Amino acid sequence: MLELPGQGKGVILIVDDSKMNQQILSAMLKDIAEIHCADHGEEGVMMAQALHPNVILLDVEMPGMNGYEVCRVLKQKPSFDSAIMFVTSHTSEEHEIRALKEGAVDFITKPFKYEIVKARVSAHLMLNMQNHFLRNLVNHDGLTGVFNRRHFDEMIEQEWRRHLRAQASLALAMIDVDFFKLYNDSLGHQAGDDCLKAVAKCLSKSSRRPGEIVTRYGGEEFAIILPTTTGDEALKFGQWLCEQFAQLALPHPARPDGVPIVTVSIGLSATVPSLLTQAQTLIRCADHALYQSKEMGRNCATFGLFGD
Ligand SMILES: [Mg+2]
Repeated sequence: MLELPGQGKGVILIVDDSKMNQQILSAMLKDIAEIHCADHGEEGVMMAQALHPNVILLDVEMPGMNGYEVCRVLKQKPSFDSAIMFVTSHTSEEHEIRALKEGAVDFITKPFKYEIVKARVSAHLMLNMQNHFLRNLVNHDGLTGVFNRRHFDEMIEQEWRRHLRAQASLALAMIDVDFFKLYNDSLGHQAGDDCLKAVAKCLSKSSRRPGEIVTRYGGEEFAIILPTTTGDEALKFGQWLCEQFAQLALPHPARPDGVPIVTVSIGLSATVPSLLTQAQTLIRCADHALYQSKEMGRNCATFGLFGD
């Protein structure tokens, strides 16, 4: 079984209208990955989206949606990154070129030869798993495990464009740990790191709607991108988030205001993007609202109206 740290074992989806082919391929590959099967193209598309397999073995000749059509539909999904290998009985150069042009990484031919199938599929399975692993490293903050600033910068622009097209309200929460420098100075950097981990965990647990993106913006500042969220909803979320932190009751022994626990200050903003506005303004407004929360005595959430 091929495995990488933190990822578990690889997943292969076999899409083939022949039960016999499904069984033969499953038997050949069951030792290297978790195997799932779909009986036709439409089911293949559904299962591919639900399972996010590392490798899809896609029969070219199927009634209804054929393999090439399945491939085209899947390739249009923005988050699709499975490796597609076509399975075909055609061995001509023309078919080989067509398969690669459709976006397959490789293909296997029928009748199946055990050693070849296993070697080729293993190679692509491993490559795809390594890609996932590296992408995770690139997008995540090493200390807290939430997404990093690099991913935030990418996602805020992407979500901005998506909400512009849909004419939906996009909200942003900026969250800063109160008196974090004094926490670090009094308890040491290791305790500071543990505090940031606890904050990130609390934020992740509290962000339960699909599409919410929790990131470490920098230092002790975090940001949450809130898709299809109005200003009112964002402010309620911010206030609720402050309560979640108070309930965490993480001791803070060095606050000048005498509050005995770690709290956060939150700034929020929201807008329906237009062609004349920019994501950077949303960040600036949320950040400005965060500054107001600090001014107002911390441990609170403030909404900042979108605008220059
Ligand atoms: Mg077939």
